[in-house]
Amino acid sequence: MSLTAQIKEYALNIGYSKIGIIPAEDFPEYVDDLTKRNDMYGFYVNSPSRPLAVADLKSLMPTAKSIITTVYDYAQKNFPKELTNKIGKVYQARSYDPPPEYINGARSELMRAFLRKVGCEVGEKIVLPERLVAAKAGITNYGRNGFAYAEGIGSFIYLKSFLVDRELEYDNPTIKQVCPEGCSACMKACPTKAIYEPHKINPPRCIAFHTFLTQEGMAGSYIKPEIREKMGTKIQGCDICQDVCPLNQERLKSKLPDDEFLVNVAQDFSLSKMLNMTDEFYDSRVQPLLFNYIKERKYFQRNAAIALGNLGDPANVFDLAIAMDDHEELVRGYSAWALGKIGDRSAKQVLEDNLSKETSESVKDEIRQALSRIEIRGELKG
Ligand code: SF4
Ligand code: SF4
Repeated sequence: MSLTAQIKEYALNIGYSKIGIIPAEDFPEYVDDLTKRNDMYGFYVNSPSRPLAVADLKSLMPTAKSIITTVYDYAQKNFPKELTNKIGKVYQARSYDPPPEYINGARSELMRAFLRKVGCEVGEKIVLPERLVAAKAGITNYGRNGFAYAEGIGSFIYLKSFLVDRELEYDNPTIKQVCPEGCSACMKACPTKAIYEPHKINPPRCIAFHTFLTQEGMAGSYIKPEIREKMGTKIQGCDICQDVCPLNQERLKSKLPDDEFLVNVAQDFSLSKMLNMTDEFYDSRVQPLLFNYIKERKYFQRNAAIALGNLGDPANVFDLAIAMDDHEELVRGYSAWALGKIGDRSAKQVLEDNLSKETSESVKDEIRQALSRIEIRGELKG
């Protein structure tokens, strides 16, 4: 068996659904696209991931000869409905960039170990344009929502590539349109119109971006009110443009076995528990799923406050009132916004009580804006 065949069989044996291989060449088209859309991708271009470095792949790994790319199908088990409107499926499945002690992280470690065993040097911590690599290797195509689609699976896939120093047998690209003619369901369903033309996403309008990249040191922690309104109950990620896609319906409608771990998490999970989070809740119910992007608890709390505001249920005023005493300004400010969204008599009272004792100017601003929205709504009603 050739080295290429050995590598491919091993990848399939350890649970990857598809594998393809391309020569390790630069990605000028990707760099060009990111550069042209710097107003949308500046946050990423200037991040530690350094995506533009793939303009010169050899600068990242001088011995690089091939890129081995894989598809992992992460929607093999049922996603509990209690979590589905809050957490993206890829995070529920613990598939997005997991540490090695997770089964999906162990899989990529196994792959690396195998590649070394068969004599390959493997690049470390090199960020590649995964969707483009997989399309060039013929294992995925693009949908108009910008996601990669694998034949027979759909878009609920996680892509992972390995840069190696051996020449291998290469696959052919299948970059083609997978969408049925005339379909634009994803573009119509996107609440923020972040898919501004087929295949083009504006990340700073995307809800997923706002759930996890709005942190200090990344895209800044402020989320505009117009986006908060559209975030619904999303805590991390957004699957709307994939959930409406006809190409995913077969999987979404199929009867899948329960993931018993997720069933346990779902039983305990609630937005109010996330808002006023105990250490135990954070360790046992948040970290096991949401270990990848959000580095500080306050951002989960902020997202929970937004979600509770969007629910608009006066029953949550009590928990938001507790959060108005949180030591983090961020949590208090977004809780004030949420109280303004609920806007009943009790929410107004909590806001007024807190305005007199609040010391942070930014939180006071949020409280005043929340109160003025309640006033305006009252006038409109009256
Ligand atoms: S992930 Fe959500 S917000 Fe982002 S493009 Fe898709 S539907 Fe729109
Ligand atoms: S919803 Fe329609 S247009 Fe969008 S990715 Fe799916 S098939 Fe393509």
